[in-house]
Amino acid sequence: MNNMTIKDISSEESRKLINSLKKKGITNIDVLSIMSKIQRHLFVEPALRGRAYDFDALPIGFNQTISSPYIVAKMTQLLVETDSMKNVLEIGTGCGYQACILSKLFGRVTTVERIKPLYDKTSMLLKSLNYKNITLIYGDGFKGYKINAPYDAIIMTASPTNIPDELISQLKPNGRMVLPLNVNGSQKLYRIKNTKRGILKKEVDDVLFVPMLDGIV
Ligand code: SAH
Repeated sequence: MNNMTIKDISSEESRKLINSLKKKGITNIDVLSIMSKIQRHLFVEPALRGRAYDFDALPIGFNQTISSPYIVAKMTQLLVETDSMKNVLEIGTGCGYQACILSKLFGRVTTVERIKPLYDKTSMLLKSLNYKNITLIYGDGFKGYKINAPYDAIIMTASPTNIPDELISQLKPNGRMVLPLNVNGSQKLYRIKNTKRGILKKEVDDVLFVPMLDGIV
């Protein structure tokens, strides 16, 4: 498991986090095991490291946030399916925490971020942590990333007002997508399946993500 071992999080912090996740309905053993090992404190500002294992979303600079561990776990759990775990696309790299979790479950992770300094910062962090199966792309997530398509799964971690057609077109047949969709001003988490009979859409939860914005900055 790269250079992240259970010793790197105090066992107390790790146990508390995993117990809370279980209580809130996270059941997937692989997701729980990975989340018990990834050092969330490395992804937040040094001043906030004392709160890294709490259940809060936290600021990561550039007006963006790292999602709460519960939402990360929930969205990850919704992406897992046996036998089609080769290739995943994430929209909204942010600090890279979600991408690192995905990289332990999927063969290859492609993740797209639109804010250049955040992309640069996270690229450096992931390089220093020695993640080899994550490709970071500086670009507009509405376009996805065709070069590595088609994907078994797509996760959006910024909230769009429509399901982007371009992203659906980059999914494999039977591929799935998890996204926080803004419906008339309130966000709902959806799990979508790209079936032969069309797009199947299931509402899962209320969520609160930063909006998905057009273009790069
Ligand atoms: N996945 C992150 C959370 C990221 S917050 C985690 O693990 O904690 C959402 C991110 O989406 C922000 O960094 C924001 O800049 C980015 N974002 C918003 N609109 C985007 C777009 N069109 N393309 C790519 N990234 C986008």
